Amino acid sequence: MSVSGEKIWLDGSFVDWADANIHLLTHTLHYGLGVFEGIRCYRTEDDRSAVFRLPEHVRRLFDSAKINLIEIPFQPDEIEAATLETMRQNHLTEGYMRPLVFIGDGEMGLNPGNNPIRVAIMAWAWGKYLGEESMVNGIRAKVSTYSRHYVNSKMTKGKTCGDYVNSILAKREALLDGYDEAVMLDTNGLVSEASGENIFLVRDGVLRTPPSHTVLDGITRATVCELAADKSIPVEQRPITRDDLYIADEVFLTGTAAEVTPVREIDRRKIGNGTRGPITKRLQETFFDVVAGREPKYERWLSYL
Ligand code: PMP
Repeated sequence: MSVSGEKIWLDGSFVDWADANIHLLTHTLHYGLGVFEGIRCYRTEDDRSAVFRLPEHVRRLFDSAKINLIEIPFQPDEIEAATLETMRQNHLTEGYMRPLVFIGDGEMGLNPGNNPIRVAIMAWAWGKYLGEESMVNGIRAKVSTYSRHYVNSKMTKGKTCGDYVNSILAKREALLDGYDEAVMLDTNGLVSEASGENIFLVRDGVLRTPPSHTVLDGITRATVCELAADKSIPVEQRPITRDDLYIADEVFLTGTAAEVTPVREIDRRKIGNGTRGPITKRLQETFFDVVAGREPKYERWLSYL
């Protein structure tokens, strides 16, 4: 699906969508050192619009930049305000926001020298990342032949542009092989995450997700862990093997784009009874209640437009 819109926030002011262009010598374009976020805004019960967990996303953007020795020339509150304003300028009441921090043109070669650090914020309407029907019936996933980067090559706490080559290879392989998504193992062979989502399994009523050291610390992952604890569903963060997934009662993925997506099959093994499981359904429904402002306890996670 190609995306389009009206305005893009670029280095502090809005420019027309068609005029938001960059030079071909942009350093990030060549070498991949840049950082980004993916954030969603939802229509709320009372006909307003709210961005979900905006401060947490902006904090992770700054953490990603710090990990990569990039100094963002704006303060976090300025990025938060600009993200909200980008939604308004594009007349969107729900959708996806993409802040991107990149290194501009100037010097070439691996050392970016004093090239400018540039910031863009884009927003567009985006439906269900893995398809509307998948939210009910679940997706089919395959364990990738590609490993997740070793933690000391790709540091996992940052959302770094170039790291996504690994995700793209895994995602395309899965699609070409007739699956919807790729589950990736770490270099020790333990389950890490999907190409752009964290992964959970349910076995005997207990929710399990891999510990955070080889995965992106997903904001949806943290949300689901908190919602589960709230509902007295036990949550464990401990290593998961590939066959743990095969014999799970339920498996689901979490992410800003994918939200809470059930997995019905992995590597031709049916998961549970091959459809969305009851705990997945409960957590998915609670998640959509929270983002739509139907859970007063979690209003604190909403930044209204
Ligand atoms: N893992 C990876 C590799 C991702 O790209 C994402 C999407 N940001 C996630 C997990 C999920 O993170 P979040 O819930 O914060 O979107």
